[in-house]
Parts: sequence; C-alpha cells; structure tokens
Amino acid sequence: VVTRSAREFAKLHGRYFPVNFASSGSSTIGGNISTNAGGLHAVRYGTMRRWTAGVAGVTGTGEIFRTRPGLFKDNSGYDLKEILIGSEGTLACITEAYLNVTDPPKETRIVILSCDDFSAIGNAVGEILPSGMTLHAIEFFDRTSQKILSEWEGTVRFFESGRCFILVEYENFDEESEFAFFDGLSQRLGLIDVAYAQTEPQKREFWRRRELISESLLRNHSVYKADLAIPLVNMGLFLGEVETILSREAPEFSYTTFGHAGDGNIHLNLLKKRERDSFFHISPALEERLYRTVSKYGGSPSAEHGIGLVKTHLLKYSKTGEEIRIMKEIKRAFDPRSILNPGKILEI
Ligand SMILES: Cc1cc2nc3c(=O)[nH]c(=O)nc-3n(C[C@H](O)[C@H](O)[C@H](O)COP(=O)(O)OP(=O)(O)OC[C@H]3O[C@@H](n4cnc5c(N)ncnc54)[C@H](O)[C@@H]3O)c2cc1C
Repeated sequence: VVTRSAREFAKLHGRYFPVNFASSGSSTIGGNISTNAGGLHAVRYGTMRRWTAGVAGVTGTGEIFRTRPGLFKDNSGYDLKEILIGSEGTLACITEAYLNVTDPPKETRIVILSCDDFSAIGNAVGEILPSGMTLHAIEFFDRTSQKILSEWEGTVRFFESGRCFILVEYENFDEESEFAFFDGLSQRLGLIDVAYAQTEPQKREFWRRRELISESLLRNHSVYKADLAIPLVNMGLFLGEVETILSREAPEFSYTTFGHAGDGNIHLNLLKKRERDSFFHISPALEERLYRTVSKYGGSPSAEHGIGLVKTHLLKYSKTGEEIRIMKEIKRAFDPRSILNPGKILEI
C-alpha cells in the first residue's frame, strides 16, 4: 500500500495517518515500517514505530507469522514487531500491517526564522521545544539549498537574508503569545528575521521550498549524502565543527545542509558540480573524520534512511561490538541462510 493511499483512506473515514514525506506518492507501508520512516512531522507524531500496531510477514525460513494487534499493553515476552521495525527487510518480508490512526490536526501556522549562524539552530530548537506550543514541525535548511532550488526551477530567490532558516509549524494558540515568544527568541539569539506565512498559498510555498531540496540537488550535482542524527543539545556545536572540517579539509566540495531540526536529524550533502553519477565517495580519511565527529557528539550515522548496503562500515560509529554481535544472532534466528537482503545493515 502506497503511503499516500493509506493517508487518503484514513481521511475518507475522518481519521488521520500522520506519516508523510516527499516520497509519499511512491513509498509503501512495508518500506516505511522496514526503514522506521519518520517524516516531516516526526516532531509531532514520531516515526512509523508509533503508528504500527501489528505486522504479518514471512521469515527467511519461510515461516509465516502475525503479531497480535490492538492491545495497548502486552508484556508477554519479546516484541517481534518492534524488532522488525527498522530492520530494512533483513529479517522478514512484511506482507500485512495494522496501523494506528489519529484525529486530523487542527489549523497550523508557519514562521520562518532566519539566522546567520548554524549554532543558532540548536539554540532555537532548545527554546522552541519546551515552549508549550503544539509543534508540528521544526525544519531547517541553508541558503545554498535555496540558491540551488531557485536555479533549478528558474524562480526568484527566496530567503535571501541569512545563512540558515528554521521553519516552525505549530497549532494556532494565541497570536499575542506567539509574537511575544518569537520576538523574544529573535532578540536572545540575534536572529535576522522572523517571517510569518500570511496565507495558505504562502504556507504551501514555504513547505515546497523545504520539500523539493533533495530532488533539486540531484539535477546538477553528484551528491554524497550523510543522514545524521545528533542529540539536540549538541546540534549547534556539531554543525559548527562540521563547517570547520569541510572548509579546511574538503574545500573541493561545496555543501548544503537541511533537515528535521526538531528531531536532531541533519542531512549533510557534499556536492560535486555537473557530475551526474548518482553517488560519489569521499576519501576514507574525510569520512572517518566526519563520522568520528558524529560519534563524539553522541550521534548516529543514519537517522532515517537506514544503513542499507553502502553504510555497513559506518555502523561501528553508533553500535558497540557487543550490539553488532547480538544483531547478527537475531539475523541468524530469522534468516539463517541470509537470503533476505544479504549484506544490508550487517556484513555477514
Ligand atoms: C524524496 C524523499 C524524501 C524522503 N523523506 C523522508 C523523510 O522526511 N523522513 C524519512 O524517515 N524518510 C524519508 N525518506 C526515505 C523513506 O524512508 C522512504 O522513502 C520510504 O519510507 C521507504 O519506503 P519504500 O516503499 O520506498 O521502500 P524501498 O526504498 O523500496 O525499500 C526500503 C527498504 O525496505 C525494504 N522493504 C521494502 N518493502 C518491504 C517489505 N514489504 N517487507 C520488508 N522489507 C521491505 C527494502 O528491501 C529496503 O531495504 C525520503 C525518501 C525520498 C526519496
């Protein structure tokens, strides 16, 4: 079932399936569960894990299983569903899923905060999250991403003042308190601009400028994509250090960064102009430097896109040897002959 169809089906019944992202027209529920996909509103709704009530599937030995849905509490032993979520098709092929749905969201507002310094992103998120607002999204992107998008589309430049931008979507609560909060934040953090979307088309345009970044990068560049998770408290420091590393050790690449600031999920993209290979490698030394920095700040080499085939060597930056050994034992229990996505996640 395609993600968008699941969302439309829920809507038809007056309910809301909140997992949504730019690939919702092509991604499937099975794929979303297998990657524990999050999406644009994960700060409000969490990841697929929260919306998966049960799964049925087939293991590598051909055994068919079905976990019991519909129980709020069930402490009767290991939870196989939880093990399967995020397993990238290495343990079983998921054939059915039972999904949770919720009430449709209330009307939301969007504000764009412009800043000149990446460390302001982490500081802003640190103040916005506990502010008491019902948040739907806290996204960020840099000016380079907007320049590339405008060039690709042939449209006028957006978001000119500032080096990076934070998009905050929240449920309407009280206009005066909102303005007071964002004004105060702006003064404390030295932000350059605070711009509210005034109309629905403007709201959609703000989102569009965020959602199309990924696609626009691939049109004229080869991209080395790093999908990093960093604890929120360390985000500012991390981004600052990465900037220094890239400017000193990788001046041959340009880079652009964007992501889900509220989830501490940073998509860092190193760019090579006009080379159209879909993927290029950076030097092992630079890669090691980058991921050691991720590890130093308590992060993970994969926030939402999984480890797959090409990042297996990076698993060591977030999992201990002991954890990897146990993961291999789990893989052997579900798929002893390694016929399901061999070589993904684990080098077996
Ligand atoms: C433009 C774009 C934007 C995205 N934005 C986000 C985002 O904001 N947040 C986010 O979390 N992710 C995002 N993603 C990645 C997202 O995780 C995937 O698009 C999607 O969730 C994966 O589903 P899929 O059906 O495309 O799976 P595929 O890409 O086809 O497969 C993904 C993995 O799941 C396995 N798999 C697929 N189906 C099954 C099944 N039935 N049983 C077992 N294993 C299976 C595959 O073998 C593979 O290992 C984005 C991707 C794109 C292209």
